[in-house]
Amino acid sequence: MSIIGHLINGETTTEHTRLQDVYNPSTGEVARQVALAPKATVEQAIACAQAAFPAWRNTPVAKRAQVMYRYKTLLEEHADKICELVGMEHGKTAADAKGELTRGIECVEYACGAPELLKGEHSRNVGPGIDSWSEFQALGVVAGITPFNFPMMVPMWMFPMALVCGDTFVLKPSERDPSVTMFIAELLHQAGLPAGVFNVVNGDKEAVDTLLTDPRVAAVSFVGSTPIAEYIYSTATANGKRCQALGGAKNHAIVMPDADLDNAVNSLLGAAFGSSGERCMALSVAVAVGDEVANKLVAGLSSAMQSLKVGAYNDPANDFGPLITAEQRDKVEMYIGSAEQDGATVVVDGRQPDVAGYPNGFYVGGTLIDQVTPAMKAYQEEIFGPVLCVVRVETMEQAMQLINDHEYGNGTCIYTRDGEAARYFSDHILVGMVGINVPLPVPVAYHSFGGWKRSLFGDLHAYGPDAVRFYTKRKTITQRWPSSSVREGVNFSFPS
Ligand code: NAD
Repeated sequence: MSIIGHLINGETTTEHTRLQDVYNPSTGEVARQVALAPKATVEQAIACAQAAFPAWRNTPVAKRAQVMYRYKTLLEEHADKICELVGMEHGKTAADAKGELTRGIECVEYACGAPELLKGEHSRNVGPGIDSWSEFQALGVVAGITPFNFPMMVPMWMFPMALVCGDTFVLKPSERDPSVTMFIAELLHQAGLPAGVFNVVNGDKEAVDTLLTDPRVAAVSFVGSTPIAEYIYSTATANGKRCQALGGAKNHAIVMPDADLDNAVNSLLGAAFGSSGERCMALSVAVAVGDEVANKLVAGLSSAMQSLKVGAYNDPANDFGPLITAEQRDKVEMYIGSAEQDGATVVVDGRQPDVAGYPNGFYVGGTLIDQVTPAMKAYQEEIFGPVLCVVRVETMEQAMQLINDHEYGNGTCIYTRDGEAARYFSDHILVGMVGINVPLPVPVAYHSFGGWKRSLFGDLHAYGPDAVRFYTKRKTITQRWPSSSVREGVNFSFPS
């Protein structure tokens, strides 16, 4: 069985103390194994990144950006292979993987603008003969720790910007679907990145803890579940590092009585069940305002769901694929069962679907649960599966209160034709990314991505303008060249 290793100093190694199985979730078979790096291997990757830093930092920013121009072309040329690797180990369909790749490439395109983004700020003559300017200097070695659900896009939220800012990088991808991440790392070297500037170590907690505590690592970007995000943030910052840790979600869509219901039904279907609901921006709760709209919504959704197709990643007729592991499938089924026990109505039950030819794949079909209440476990926790819960309320204020009271604040959306209501919603909702008749309001690459409350620990969001700030340190220089025309005596008071 082939072993997926690490990429350190431009070379692959398979050092490990343990191996972990990597599945093809569509078939349920073990496809390969991944080497879990011991502490010493991670330390070696950090040492290589540290050694590569001085030369990379001093490489002109336009040259660093040119690597990203070539990288974008290589990603486009290899799109089919990239999407196949994602499908094989993650299970998402080719069309969905293509969408993921496109959003990742957009982050690479944004990084190509580094010469403009890093120009800094300049003020002439802030005092007599004095000029002042701010520079954004590289941090050093930075680390990225990424989740399984976007094995190429989420790494691309991080390393393109970190690299063009002059940092060197150690990436610890998800151990559940690492092949595509290794492949896009190889392409980066084909694009001309010097060895040691970007390193990938596969592993689990041992590898992560090494990155969090090693004094040579200046900053850590993390994306994953909330309990781990909180651990990463507290450990990294206690070790003196800058940290941004993006966590889990429970994204609500409010459906107002005046909404265009056909549009709401179609976009809710895609946003709830696309990628099997394994997206941090998946819409997992529809809050219907008034019983009339709730009844119509449930009828519309359940009828449209009859034609939903779950199946293997490589059949383009399928709408979505399997879940990542058998444990995740069991967990999703547990949540459906718990909602049922708590008194909710399972209108469409996706448990144990019949997927012809794939009896051992990790499948759950699209599931719709009505009459869910805030007291239920299925409402409170992130399910991360193809399950849409419907909560019924009487007023828009009650709907907004539910969202504002929830521990997560990643994304949300309102369906309405009323501009005033939409404006009030976006003004007062305690969520980081808001859609108005847009179900998945994922910011484009030239804005930044991040939730509020327990969906993000740290101050700066991912990619876009915030990434320039996250991956650099501001330095402000005040300069005067003494000349015969500017002479000052001794002054003991604060200069003003
Ligand atoms: P996860 O938290 O299990 O794993 C994420 C990373 O943390 C992996 O690289 C993993 O190896 C590492 N890790 C896991 N347990 C650890 C531990 N005990 N100590 C140190 N490191 C550990 O997340 P996942 O299951 O891979 O991804 C799904 C989760 O990620 C969901 O909660 C989803 O909402 C979230 N997510 C959030 C965003 C966002 O932008 N907010 C984006 C994508 C995914």
